[in-house]
Amino acid sequence: MILVTGGAGFIGSNFILDWIAATGEAVVNLDKLTYAGNLENLANLKDDPRHIFVQGDINDRVLVAKLLSQHQPRAIIHFAAESHVDRSIHGPGEFIQTNINGTFSLLEEVRAYWQELQAEEKAAFRFLHVSTDEVYGSLGANDPPFTETTAYAPNSPYSASKAASDHLVRAYHHTYGLPTLTTNCSNNYGAFQFPEKLIPLIILNALNGKPLPIYGDGMNVRDWLYVGDHCAAIRAVLAGGRLGETYNIGGWNEKTNLDVVNTVCAILDELKPAANSKPYASLITYVKDRPGHDRRYAIDARKIERELGWKPLETFETGIRKTVAWYLDNMGWVENIVSGEYQQWMKANYQNR
Ligand code: NAD
Repeated sequence: MILVTGGAGFIGSNFILDWIAATGEAVVNLDKLTYAGNLENLANLKDDPRHIFVQGDINDRVLVAKLLSQHQPRAIIHFAAESHVDRSIHGPGEFIQTNINGTFSLLEEVRAYWQELQAEEKAAFRFLHVSTDEVYGSLGANDPPFTETTAYAPNSPYSASKAASDHLVRAYHHTYGLPTLTTNCSNNYGAFQFPEKLIPLIILNALNGKPLPIYGDGMNVRDWLYVGDHCAAIRAVLAGGRLGETYNIGGWNEKTNLDVVNTVCAILDELKPAANSKPYASLITYVKDRPGHDRRYAIDARKIERELGWKPLETFETGIRKTVAWYLDNMGWVENIVSGEYQQWMKANYQNR
């Protein structure tokens, strides 16, 4: 049994589906169901006893302690976070509350639980903290990619809150010996991503004939990884990562935002041409840049490749094609999110077990 936090979000839900398919091991999924949590992502597990969903906050220490003692997990995979940079600019408070205070509360309860385990379980236990490459700040055009020893230099309230949580996890290993692992991953894309993020936003706006907003000059560079490859990397780090270490995860896929948008548009032109037969790229509209917008992120993933033998299975070209096709096949999922219907669906279909 493992305990996953934030398992109703984009990456967490992909992870739970991937984990149960790959290992068959049961998962307790603790998620607050903020606007970003959507149990419809896990509809395939609705009647599966290997997925135990509990709606709750990682800051609720009584609940966390109860879940740990009731289910005796052998590992925690910590995804729960506020994750959208733009939201962190408009309202950083929730980011501090969940990403920093929530991680601290979780670490405290996990430490108390772990300390009481028998020697063998204690040695085998793992706390895996899922983090982002944004903690390293911004690269210049000719800088080498981020490695695990790159100095932290977060620039947004989101990345600062994630950096703080990474430091807490590190400190709990060094101070208390908690068996932690941290992963810092590049931008993910794939099924079930909330439509405020770049790739689903572009797909949906294009299909609705709306402008495709691109910040600034569109030349900001991100390193993109298909979410299924991220899930496999987390499994590899959990199974073989060295305690107290951090692992960078990335797909060696640096793309400008403009490249990404043009690629999505070209795939849509092919799979679902616009009714007016204009190329979707004609909808591209440049908008005022995000304040403090990091220019470039790039990940050096050689450590995880060398130590754990992980490699991404998807290239950007194969992964993005799958992703666009998934959204076209699952417009009902998108419409339910946009209309908020999934919340009613959740009430009707799910009970806390
Ligand atoms: P998401 O916003 O889609 O999902 C976050 C989930 O956490 C939601 O289900 C939400 O309900 C839940 N949650 C939020 N606050 C909570 C709280 N206080 N208690 C319990 N649950 C809570 O995020 P995501 O994109 O799936 O990212 C998951 C993790 O991966 C985050 O920690 C993020 O920093 C990290 N990450 C994301 C990316 C990316 O590209 N999306 C890249 C690298 C790392």
